[in-house]
Amino acid sequence: MIRFDKVTKRFGGRTVLDSLDFSVHTGKHVTLIGPSGSGKTTILRLLMTLVKPDEGTITVGGERLWPAGEKEVREVRRNIGMVFQQFNLFPHMKVLRNVTEAPVHVLGLSRDEAEERGRELLDLVGLGAYTDSFPGRLSGGQQQRVAIARALAMRPKVLLLDEVTSALDPELVAGMLDLLRDIARSTDVTMVCVTHEMGFAKDVSDCVMMFDEGRVLEYGPPEKIFSAPEHERTKEFLSAVL
Ligand code: ADP
Repeated sequence: MIRFDKVTKRFGGRTVLDSLDFSVHTGKHVTLIGPSGSGKTTILRLLMTLVKPDEGTITVGGERLWPAGEKEVREVRRNIGMVFQQFNLFPHMKVLRNVTEAPVHVLGLSRDEAEERGRELLDLVGLGAYTDSFPGRLSGGQQQRVAIARALAMRPKVLLLDEVTSALDPELVAGMLDLLRDIARSTDVTMVCVTHEMGFAKDVSDCVMMFDEGRVLEYGPPEKIFSAPEHERTKEFLSAVL
């Protein structure tokens, strides 16, 4: 579903991703871990086409995302949803409208269809009773759930999650992990998550990729990475965060 071939990204002469190769199979849930500044968020930003690689190719669902023409990029980009650390909801729109706006305007769904699906998704994230509320009336955790429903409303093949628990109060983190685990189990969406939450990496993902200085240091199922890491650098990182 996702393939990076020799992707290099530099910012101001500094190499942030260094000839990076990796792939994620359809329906898999991958967690990117590693020290701050190792390039994890840059990978999500490349997939969202918020930044462009300096070298290499990126494909999603077998279609070229980079290098590609503007029209192709738009088409491929449509299959990718992202939930940010900050929820970025539209404050002047009610919750249901936040979830239906893009399906109506981008996918061309009728408002009725979009609302039906929107209500289902808001039920899924436990917010069926809040469809008519404005986001400002909801807690941070509830707003994050709306952001997840909004991303899923676009029926993405790929869902990118950037530190979705880090802006939440500690008591809300477990509930969010439960929700993401449910989504991972109940949909066939391919998930790529950047997180400092090792519980998330352990419980939700099929594969954990440890990054260091813009490279994949090692990867494997969570049981292996957490209980028998091969690299000294991974051991140090895990002992600092666990
Ligand atoms: P991580 O998510 O692993 O913490 P990032 O991908 O956010 O790492 O960042 C990797 C490196 O790239 C960091 O040193 C960061 O400062 C730098 N970087 C990220 N985005 C930009 C940008 N837009 N301009 C300049 N430097 C950037």
